[in-house]
Amino acid sequence: MLERLATDILILGSGGAGLFAALHAHQADPALDITVATKGLLGKCGCTRMVQGGYNVALNTGDSVERHFMDTIEGGKWLPDQQLAWTLVTKAIERVHELENEIGCFFDRNADGTLHGKAFAGQTFDRTVHKGDLTGIEIINRLMEQVWARPVRRLEEHRAVALIPAKDGKSLSGALLIDIRTGLFRFVAAKAVLLATGGGPTMYRYHTPSGDKSMDGLAMALRLGLPLRDMEMVQFHPTGLLAGLDTRMTGTVLEEGLRGAGGHLINGRGERFMQRLDERAERATRDFVSRCIYEEMRAGRTTPHGGVYIKMDHLGPDNVRREFKGMVERCADCGFDLAGGLVEVVPTAHYFMGGLVCGVDTATELPGLFVAGEDAGGVHGANRLGGNGVANSTVYGGIAGETMAAWLAADAAHRAPDEAMLAAEVARAELPFAGKGGDLNRLRESLLDTMWDDVGVIRDAAGLRRGLAQLDAIEAELLSAGVADQDRAFNLTWHDWLNLRSLVEISKLIAAAALKRENSRGAHFREDFPAEGDLTTSTFTVARQRDGALDIADEPVAFTIVRPGETLLKEAAE
Ligand SMILES: Cc1cc2nc3c(=O)[nH]c(=O)nc-3n(C[C@H](O)[C@H](O)[C@H](O)COP(=O)(O)OP(=O)(O)OC[C@H]3O[C@@H](n4cnc5c(N)ncnc54)[C@H](O)[C@@H]3O)c2cc1C
Repeated sequence: MLERLATDILILGSGGAGLFAALHAHQADPALDITVATKGLLGKCGCTRMVQGGYNVALNTGDSVERHFMDTIEGGKWLPDQQLAWTLVTKAIERVHELENEIGCFFDRNADGTLHGKAFAGQTFDRTVHKGDLTGIEIINRLMEQVWARPVRRLEEHRAVALIPAKDGKSLSGALLIDIRTGLFRFVAAKAVLLATGGGPTMYRYHTPSGDKSMDGLAMALRLGLPLRDMEMVQFHPTGLLAGLDTRMTGTVLEEGLRGAGGHLINGRGERFMQRLDERAERATRDFVSRCIYEEMRAGRTTPHGGVYIKMDHLGPDNVRREFKGMVERCADCGFDLAGGLVEVVPTAHYFMGGLVCGVDTATELPGLFVAGEDAGGVHGANRLGGNGVANSTVYGGIAGETMAAWLAADAAHRAPDEAMLAAEVARAELPFAGKGGDLNRLRESLLDTMWDDVGVIRDAAGLRRGLAQLDAIEAELLSAGVADQDRAFNLTWHDWLNLRSLVEISKLIAAAALKRENSRGAHFREDFPAEGDLTTSTFTVARQRDGALDIADEPVAFTIVRPGETLLKEAAE
């Protein structure tokens, strides 16, 4: 069964990017018919809700947008698109005021009433605005209330499975969704579609993002032949909780503020190891600290579950309990005493820097398709600073809402869909019902291990080739496995199958792009090519699918604002 709906603006995803887009589009033109379709429940899914640490913004005396920009560019190892990064740091100021004054968020304050900025690794100023260590709940709850208060149509527990081009192939006509509750297919015709499904590297043994994220958005864009950049760039957060493989808490993140506040990392022999590896010790960037922990693990200097410890008690247990209430409770749930003892941690796949190529207005190469948040590539380059993720999704979500409203004002037509493509996409999503049913759990475990072992924190050509071969084998088995239960309503096995398909497709792209990049930058470390290469001739990868085959090209970074060796900071330049 295929049902058809029409709307002016269709937003896929209800994280910070999706909800801000809905609010700004409505503000730009309250007459617009706006639909938010989301895989989970509005306000209860995605990673914006999970934000712990906070939101980077240059507000306080001593900081500046230039400083925030330089931290972002240097953290991203000179690969970010500088126009995207500049827009991020400048608009973050406007957006954080909007969050407080219009959306209704309350963030922690200094005694003088200014917003408190906490220390986050890899930054030269304490600029991470927060609400304790549970900032995302504050942001997403207030955004949810604002969206509820407006006439925005909500398609909850609706999974987008395909972007459907117009009949002439030159623009987008809408998206194909599955109503998860009934199993019904819905084609939503839209004049503008925003991809805001939030990426999410959940294909690694240890990972932090919410379970509803499975790279669906990027897999849909890849199938349309759209360009995806920096696909080798997967950020590992150094301190994922490690409490054994039997608990879903393993892999969930212990926030960066712990290291920022002065937490120590200790190996299985009781040695603090970061001091001898970097002058910033535990406050070095995420990529570097993750690699150092991984090396301790490879050397066998591990804790009972195979990771290292984080230790906070030297900062005063009462102080830790007060400052990191959420983290202390999370650790206690798993039997660890964060305030007074040792907690086992492991690097965990946290954020995906790669994504769909777009401009500062969020427009993509395909007219009618826009992208914002973690689905968009280019803002962070090779590494994302902690605190720049939620700033990115809220800044660019808002811009997307405005851009789509303006696009509609200029080009207000629905475009007829390519019906053959629509039928083919329905058939593609139904493919698993042709199989007898296989062991999806075993396939998933195999995917998690392959990505962790061969396409993970430290890579080399042999491992990447081995990983690619294994991913092909997993994909082949998945396609023939299918789903035994033929019922379409709330068939979660069907959705697990679809999740796995998207994850395998994007995993292959991550491995192929990682093989292509023969140097080490930020989150991408090649043991066989450990040098970062010449910064002034930096390139980024751009991948496209053509006739079913992946084509990955290198494109030069355009240093439109600052070149390697230069800085925007006056005091440093003098
Ligand atoms: C544990 C954790 C802590 C973090 N802490 C910080 C922090 O302190 N500071 C910071 O800056 N960043 C942090 N981040 C990163 C930050 O959360 C993300 O970068 C940002 O929130 C992404 O926003 P988004 O709107 O792009 O996606 P999300 O908020 O993840 O939303 C994605 C939405 O898309 C929906 N979706 C997915 N697939 C489909 C589909 N096929 N069809 C329809 N809908 C779909 C999801 O259900 C969800 O609603 C953290 C991330 C995690 C996981």
